[in-house]
Amino acid sequence: MTEPLVDPFHRAISYLRVSVTDRCDFRCVYCMAENMTFLPKKELLTLEELDRMCSTFIRLGVGKLRITGGEPLVRKGIMTFFEAMSRHLDSGALRELTLTTNGSQLERFADQLYATGVRRVNVSLDTLNEQKFSEITRWGRLPQVLRGIDAAQRAGLRVKINTVALRGVNEDELFDLVAWCAERDLDLTFIEVMPMGDIGNESRLDQYWKLTDLRARLGERFTLADLAERTGGPARYVRLEETGQKIGFITPLSHNFCESCNRVRLTCTGELYMCLGQEDMADLRAPLRNNPGDDAPLEAAIRAAIALKPKGHDFDYSRQTVAGQMTRHMSHTGG
Ligand code: SAM
Ligand code: SF4
Repeated sequence: MTEPLVDPFHRAISYLRVSVTDRCDFRCVYCMAENMTFLPKKELLTLEELDRMCSTFIRLGVGKLRITGGEPLVRKGIMTFFEAMSRHLDSGALRELTLTTNGSQLERFADQLYATGVRRVNVSLDTLNEQKFSEITRWGRLPQVLRGIDAAQRAGLRVKINTVALRGVNEDELFDLVAWCAERDLDLTFIEVMPMGDIGNESRLDQYWKLTDLRARLGERFTLADLAERTGGPARYVRLEETGQKIGFITPLSHNFCESCNRVRLTCTGELYMCLGQEDMADLRAPLRNNPGDDAPLEAAIRAAIALKPKGHDFDYSRQTVAGQMTRHMSHTGG
C-alpha cells in the first residue's frame, strides 16, 4: 500500500487544485492587468502530462480534485482531460472532481461535465448589474454567464456562486445577491480580496471590503447561525435562520484555517505551491518530463515538496500597506 501524503505538521494532503491554463477570456480587475502576457504553450503541461500528474497525486491519496485556471474551460481539449479523470471516480480512488469557472463557457460544456462525473461547480459572479459586470470583468458579458449558470443547473450540477467582496462596487448588492441565490437555490460564498500579482493601476486597498463588515451588515437583516462545517480550507459557513440559506465566507488573510489545511496547488506549468500565501514551490514538471514511463521520480519529488509545506502564510493588510504581497497572479496558482 502507498504511504499517504502527510506534511510535517501532521496534515494529510487530500485535496489538489490544478490550474490547467493561465489564460482567460475575462480580465477581472482584482485578478489581472488588462494587458497580460501569457505563457508560451510549450511551458504548459500537456493534457497527457496533466493526467499523469493528477493520477500520481490520486495514487498518493488525493481524493478531491478541483480544476481551475485562468479559465479552465478555455483550455483547448479540456473535456478530454475531464473524461480521463472520470476513470478515477469510477474506480473510487477519487471522491470528487470539481471545477471553478467564470461561467462563460458553461452553456457549451455543462452536460459534458456532468457526464464525466462532475457534480458541483463554483461559478464566480460579483454583481447582477450588467454594466458593473462589464467594468469588473472588463471583457465579460453578464447574460452569457447567467445562461451558463442556468445550463449547469439544468444539467444537474450543484452550483455555488463565489462573490469577491469589493468595496464601493458590490456593497450595495449584498441583499440582492443573497435573495437571487435563494430564489435559484444557489449556494453563495463571499471571498475577501487577496494581494496576488500586479493588477495594473487598480489598488488593492481601494477594493478591500472586510468580510467581518460584510457579515455584520448581513446580521442587521438576518439571524446568522454559525455552522461547524469545515472543508480544510479558509471557508467558514453560517445559516440564515430566516431563509435557511447557507452562506460561506472565505477570509484567506486570517490564519485560523492553516492548522487544518489539507490542500496544495499545481500550476499549469507543473509547479506545486504548498501554500497560497508563500512563494515556496517545487518544480514537478522536470521529474515528470525527464522520466517518461516512470512515475517514481515524480512521486519522490511530490513527497519532498509536501515535506516543505509551511505552517501558515504571511498575508497582512494591516496599517494601510499590503504586507506579504504575492508576485504571482491568482490565475497562475488558480485561486
Ligand atoms: N476563472 C475562474 C473563475 O474566475 O472562477 C477560475 C480562476 S479564478 C483565479 C478563481 C477565483 O479566484 C475566482 O472566484 C476569483 O474571483 C478569485 N480571485 C481572483 N483574484 C483574486 C484576488 N486577488 N483576491 C481574491 N479572489 C480572487
Ligand atoms: Fe479570469 Fe477568473 Fe481571473 Fe476573472 S478571476 S480574470 S475570470 S481567471
